[in-house]
Amino acid sequence: MPPVDRNNPVRAKSSDSRISFMEFMREFPDDAACLDYLWRTRYAEDGENAECPKCEQVRPFKRYETKQRRQSWTCTACGHHIHPTAGTIFHKSSTSLHLWFYAIYLVSSSRCGIAAKQLEREVGVNYKTALRMLHLIRQELMEQDYQGPLSGEVEADETWVGGKEHEGAKRKRRSENPDGVKYGRYVKSRPMVFGMVQRGGQIRA
Ligand SMILES: [Zn+2]
Repeated sequence: MPPVDRNNPVRAKSSDSRISFMEFMREFPDDAACLDYLWRTRYAEDGENAECPKCEQVRPFKRYETKQRRQSWTCTACGHHIHPTAGTIFHKSSTSLHLWFYAIYLVSSSRCGIAAKQLEREVGVNYKTALRMLHLIRQELMEQDYQGPLSGEVEADETWVGGKEHEGAKRKRRSENPDGVKYGRYVKSRPMVFGMVQRGGQIRA
């Protein structure tokens, strides 16, 4: 067997879920990163300019620190506030956004489903909260995965969702990763987390 090239790590099949978790933590290291992700994917791609519903045009927004635990962005022209979690399953939840994202990661990366009891242990919330989270993730996020293709807002790389992959995305993925093995579940679980969070972002109350 050739020695391991440390500069070009190859993911072993047995360790891929662990690596996926590392990937997850790199993308979403904390609550602020999760909020920023929602802000960018739902409202402001560049993190600053968003369509203000009050001004009815694109305006620069500034981050606004509120006394509430979750922050909003404010239109610099009219003062209108946008809360990136509004209308999502995360809104008004007392559970941290980071824990929500982690729960989505766990649900989407488990091969044979996850029990509320396991979510309770892993995420560190009480059983009632774990049940509620699991229900919302399954009913509100995963349910939609079976209802057809994603909207145009979602980038091609992020459209992989349990069993529903566009032919174009599939070809693209294969051409980028022809052997399909090296990266293990990274190829599946990471985009799925993004995809599901994206779905979360699109849910309106
Ligand atoms: Zn405005």
